[in-house]
Amino acid sequence: MGSSEESSGVGNGGASAVSDEEAFGQSRSRAFDLGVRLEETVANIFEKMGYSVQRRVRPATRTGATAEIDILLTRGKRRLAVECKNYDESRAVGVSELRNFMNKLQDTGIMSGVFVTTSVFSSEAEQFAESAGIELWDGEKLLEKFYAFAIGRIVNPSLLHDLVLPVAYNFESASAVGIRNPHRVELFSRVLFYHPYFIIKYRLRMVRKDPSGRMHKLGDEGSVIVDALAREIINRESGWGVVSGLFKGKEERLESKEDKLVAQDLLQIDARKESVLKTSDYDVKVAEPALSDNEAAKMVRSYVIRKNTKSISYEPKVRDDSLLGMLDKPSIKVMPRPGEVEIRGVKMVYVPKWDLQFESGNTTFQRRILASSGRVIVDTLANCRKCALLHRTTIAVCDTCGVPLCEKHAYSEGERWVCEEHASEAAKEAGRERGLFGRFLNK
Ligand SMILES: [Zn+2]
Ligand SMILES: [Zn+2]
Repeated sequence: MGSSEESSGVGNGGASAVSDEEAFGQSRSRAFDLGVRLEETVANIFEKMGYSVQRRVRPATRTGATAEIDILLTRGKRRLAVECKNYDESRAVGVSELRNFMNKLQDTGIMSGVFVTTSVFSSEAEQFAESAGIELWDGEKLLEKFYAFAIGRIVNPSLLHDLVLPVAYNFESASAVGIRNPHRVELFSRVLFYHPYFIIKYRLRMVRKDPSGRMHKLGDEGSVIVDALAREIINRESGWGVVSGLFKGKEERLESKEDKLVAQDLLQIDARKESVLKTSDYDVKVAEPALSDNEAAKMVRSYVIRKNTKSISYEPKVRDDSLLGMLDKPSIKVMPRPGEVEIRGVKMVYVPKWDLQFESGNTTFQRRILASSGRVIVDTLANCRKCALLHRTTIAVCDTCGVPLCEKHAYSEGERWVCEEHASEAAKEAGRERGLFGRFLNK
């Protein structure tokens, strides 16, 4: 994908200034109008996931201060607190909100938490949540959960006749727990989620004449991928629209790791018509697209127009040669007309994703893997939660609280593996010696 420009002295045409009237996508909040019902919707999703749900709970606290939990989830002995923030899309949840939530968790003795927002999280907030083991749902994730678990929008898998990326990474591989005490980890939610995307091919050809009479041929072609649930383009070229400062997209979605991996799979793996089989190992959920082929194509046309709206400079006709080189090059602004963007094909393809939830002690883990390639989008079991920055590979979970631990942070006590907090003095001492010995050997 890329733009090209060449000049030639022939032909006819004229600089155009077409106003960009087309609706440019739909904002997430409009596509998914939660309004004040956020808490209710989230509670509903968790109920579908098998939790018992209580709202606006004031549990006893260690300090005696009042703490209100938006949604309290229980499953067996496990308790999970959910915080909901219904923010405007432009307002990101910051690290201070996460800290407050963490304090609430500690104060109430509820070990696990999920922070849900209709907007996004700042990168500091994401970092904090990762080390604190708090699960985050941003607007996009929420939308997906909504489609996966709420009523109504799920298609019966046997009715799926669309193109899909074949499942090349099976359930056994996706659900494998490669640690020393795998029996401590229970898989409690297993979903193969079919997420619809549009792949739209386009080609732009345009010719413009600058005031000196020279012709400029501009061309661009490629494939754009639209998330059919979030109604957003996931593989935008960064930097587009910078030249035309007027059009800095405020709705521009920051490319996530998930977007990047999905786009790669969609562009590299051939989609097929494949029947989706129900099995007893996991649930199959197929989400219905939230926009039509035509709406998706319109979105892409708008994007291509904006992406190719730019200034092009030209050599002025100067009568007095002595002035040449002393003047800034003049430029004209060009903008493609909608008719110049040719949509060369729209196809909807389902991307299968393993969406697994594990639990161990008081801790929940989330794992999300592209079933088409086996590439991991998120896996909160994979890395040690006691490592502040390094996130070393998990070798065991604590037999008492369930946190994932690396070689350095896992203490063995006979058959058991425990974290520092739950280790006996003897085990800690042995661990320290092992550490010293290790450091000695490494030097
Ligand atoms: Zn560690
Ligand atoms: Zn522990």
